[in-house]
Amino acid sequence: MPLKDFIPSSPRSRVLILMPVRKDATATVDIFSKNGIISCICNTLAEVCEEIKKGAGTAVLTEEMILLDKEGILQKTLENEPRWSDFPLLVLTPAGSHTSKSIKALEAIGHMTLMQRPVQIIELLSAVRSSLRDRQRQYKVRDYLIERDKQEEALRTSEEKFRQLLDTLPAGAYTCDPDGLITYFNQQAVQMWGRAPKLNDTLDRFCGSFKLFAINGTPLTHDACWMALALKTGKGYIGEEIVVERPNGERLTVLAHANPILDGQGELAGAINILVDISDRKKAEDALKEADKRKDDFLAILAHELRNPLAPISNAMPILQSPEASKETRFKAMDIVVRQVNQMVRLVDDLMDVSRIRGGKIELHKERISLRDVIQNAIETSRPLIEEQKHELTVELPAALVYVNADLLRLSQVISNLLNNAAKYTEPRGHIWLTLEQAGNVGIIRVRDNGIGIPSNMLPRIFDMFTQVDDSLERAQGGIGIGLMLVKNLIEMHGGSVEVNSEGGGKGSQFTLRLPVAADVREEVKEEADANENKSISQTPSLRILLVEDYEVLAQMTTWALEIEGHEVRVAHDGPQAFKMVKDYIPDVVLMDIGLPGMSGYEICELMRKEPALRDTIFIAQTGWGQEEHRQRSKAAGFHHHMVKPIDTQALQGLLYPRKESFEAMPDVARALSA
Ligand code: ADP
Repeated sequence: MPLKDFIPSSPRSRVLILMPVRKDATATVDIFSKNGIISCICNTLAEVCEEIKKGAGTAVLTEEMILLDKEGILQKTLENEPRWSDFPLLVLTPAGSHTSKSIKALEAIGHMTLMQRPVQIIELLSAVRSSLRDRQRQYKVRDYLIERDKQEEALRTSEEKFRQLLDTLPAGAYTCDPDGLITYFNQQAVQMWGRAPKLNDTLDRFCGSFKLFAINGTPLTHDACWMALALKTGKGYIGEEIVVERPNGERLTVLAHANPILDGQGELAGAINILVDISDRKKAEDALKEADKRKDDFLAILAHELRNPLAPISNAMPILQSPEASKETRFKAMDIVVRQVNQMVRLVDDLMDVSRIRGGKIELHKERISLRDVIQNAIETSRPLIEEQKHELTVELPAALVYVNADLLRLSQVISNLLNNAAKYTEPRGHIWLTLEQAGNVGIIRVRDNGIGIPSNMLPRIFDMFTQVDDSLERAQGGIGIGLMLVKNLIEMHGGSVEVNSEGGGKGSQFTLRLPVAADVREEVKEEADANENKSISQTPSLRILLVEDYEVLAQMTTWALEIEGHEVRVAHDGPQAFKMVKDYIPDVVLMDIGLPGMSGYEICELMRKEPALRDTIFIAQTGWGQEEHRQRSKAAGFHHHMVKPIDTQALQGLLYPRKESFEAMPDVARALSA
């Protein structure tokens, strides 16, 4: 078959034929064809070479054709064949013997079988088949090599992808060979270790960290790390904690995920370890544990502080109930009850403030006020505690008034908290200093004491909730560790700041408050014109008070407390009774509960305010609710004042009389304030 007509069904198995005489070539093709061998005739050696390049099983050609190839194109073609190829040539040589030199020259060209003419057909067919088989084997090798190359390429690509993946992983990653020598690490691992280990180096076997520790702090050798274990046991270790130390001594808590890598035969090829830095999470967990512990401690202290006042109250109750007890004894018992209840009320108020602050529910009623007034208020509140401890209080105020835009009660609460602490954490007969000065646009209030002081390690946390320097119950000082947290929050809500200084053990403490002063300090305090809100009655030694209260015990106690103050008290248990009483008893003050049977306190007040005889009477609501909406509701009903139960008789006194009176009870302070 001429080459141009040849459509190779399988070019790899065709036989190329090159003979000087065309007839011989055609006859050979016929013979091959009859024996199932595909062949094609080439006209020149160059053509043979071209076809070899395209792919062929073998070539049958005469010796002369080779010897005539002076340029050696056949040899070159065969030499340029790929490594797997050893193209078999069947060379028909003339009859007669060959010199060994000519045989060598022929064999130097390539892999060839010489067949002396005349050739037996059967021998030729056998030789051709043998060459074709040989060639098929070569092609198989070629296919295998191609497949292997492909696989290697695929492996290289997948390894490359794998590395890229590891490089971009938001975690440290490194691999080791079966001996534990590091073969790869990413930059995140370097950051974690604080150093780049050497690759394939025995010094950095198993791990690139400077030092290693177990989670309990025990030092670990590198051959005990999770990577080493994965290589040793062939098992995976997932999410195991370990502590790595950087060369600078910094320690990180890390989750290791060490997994052996197996090759295609299931043999250990190394291991990979993925490291996740969980130091921040650990710190947060520790902080949570600490907060949880502080909360537990707080609950214990709170329970203790709430139970403390109950014993004196329980002791006082039988005296109050005894008809034989003298009036003086009852007054004393009553005084104990009132003090203890006040203490509990303060605790509960603080607790409620905490929840309000946390829920962002504290509303400041800011107005232009003088810090002197604030200080005066605070001293009034803290006076009992300071006096009880027999402390000396020195107050230094500047001649000029310092005005701020602030909530009088809240700011007083802040200073009073600091004064109370100074009183609590100073041995009896100590000294407390309270000073005010103005520096530029800042009002500075300092509360200093010569008490037990605060250790320096506690200073940074002293304003945190539930923090107490000595939280043992035996040393509890009537506090629950939230006062300073309230101070900080309240002062910051006023745009100010608080700072603490103490040199520790027995050297006293100083708290400094800074507040922006109000814009125009020369302007006088604007007097609140609201006659109702500020209505106070003239100073009389005794007031006629109508107490409307359905709870018998409370009515009795309040009556006693007011009687101790020298007032005359009548009690009505509901609306109709109250109306009956005012027909012939015109009170100076009506102290009214809101939740009454039948008519509510609001309704009674609304109606009573319409009575001309009661036009000079002060109406005070006493309720369990102190939120703004309840105050508004009282105001709308006509109440002049709103007090939260249990009534603080001192605060009630403050409402009934001008402040001056209670202020004068502390002559030193009064002098300092009016200086
Ligand atoms: P507490 O109810 O315990 O008084 P605070 O929040 O007011 O709560 O104060 C927190 C802790 O700060 C106190 O328990 C005490 O250990 C310490 N502290 C506060 N003020 C002083 C002070 N003036 N002198 C010494 N320690 C103080």
